[in-house]
Amino acid sequence: MSGRGGHTPGRTALAVHGGAGVIRRSDLSPDREAECRQALSAALTAGHSLLEAGGRALDAAVAAVVVLEEAPLFNAGRGAVFTRDGQHELDASVMDGATLSAGAVAAVRRIRNPVLAARAVMEHTPYVMLAGAGAEAFAREQGLETVDPSWFDTEGRRREWRLAKAAAIEGDARPEEFSLGTVGAVALDAAGNLASATSTGGLTNKRAGRVGDTPIIGAGTYAENGVCAVSTTGDGEYFMRTVAAYRVAALVQEGGLDLASAARRVIHETLTSLGGSGGLIAVDSRGMLALEHNSPGMYRGMIDHRGRVHTAIFGGDAPGD
Ligand code: ASP
Repeated sequence: MSGRGGHTPGRTALAVHGGAGVIRRSDLSPDREAECRQALSAALTAGHSLLEAGGRALDAAVAAVVVLEEAPLFNAGRGAVFTRDGQHELDASVMDGATLSAGAVAAVRRIRNPVLAARAVMEHTPYVMLAGAGAEAFAREQGLETVDPSWFDTEGRRREWRLAKAAAIEGDARPEEFSLGTVGAVALDAAGNLASATSTGGLTNKRAGRVGDTPIIGAGTYAENGVCAVSTTGDGEYFMRTVAAYRVAALVQEGGLDLASAARRVIHETLTSLGGSGGLIAVDSRGMLALEHNSPGMYRGMIDHRGRVHTAIFGGDAPGD
């Protein structure tokens, strides 16, 4: 399928996100902001160097997400949010646009890099998703690293969890500012292949067993050569109900919209009209990128074909800021 959709041979593109939500300048110290931008840059560089070496979009997207899972700043891998009972339950998925193969894990508690397990599900099982203890047993069989659940703990997330619990007692069930930090990447490789990957700890103080959009193919992640690759972040239930990632692809493929218009429509019309908050990143086979959100901020970044990294956090930031 590669080469469809106006791909210029040799052209690559990569974008990442580190979650959407209420991110105020006043809440983010200059040091913290610099750390976030640095982590986004490191993820972009990891993916870009693979693409430059002729690597596949799937390898680049996964490599970028692994860097963000390892960064305790984001709500994925280490730094994942706490569930209502003080645990971590992580979700992740990948999709390879060349073959429409996909893999996902949901509600896993011990897999250090859930995105690698999602990829292993795609490559080494006949299934698309494995959940819970079965997914963990499979990851071990595959030789993936498992960790004690406390490995995911960070003080900042524990503090947020306590605040969320207190807020819930007062009736505010899910303060928006706590749904931050899901990570994702979308990539186009030199051969025209598209891929995406997304990983999250879900929502702070979520009920045990709650699974959001991140591991749901078509909601949190979608990739199809000749069309686009998409990774989403935000109120997962809305992204599931609107099949948001696939909706962008359908608007491009069936609706004839360009990628930017499709991404804008899904975020600012479909999602907004239902009251959902969040954002998405997407790339098409020409290497056009869309980074769209209706939340006040979204950690995001892209790398251009010259290898220049652009990161942005707040609303109104151009990605080059
Ligand atoms: N979409 C994720 C979920 O609902 C959360 C997020 O992106 O912040 O699990």
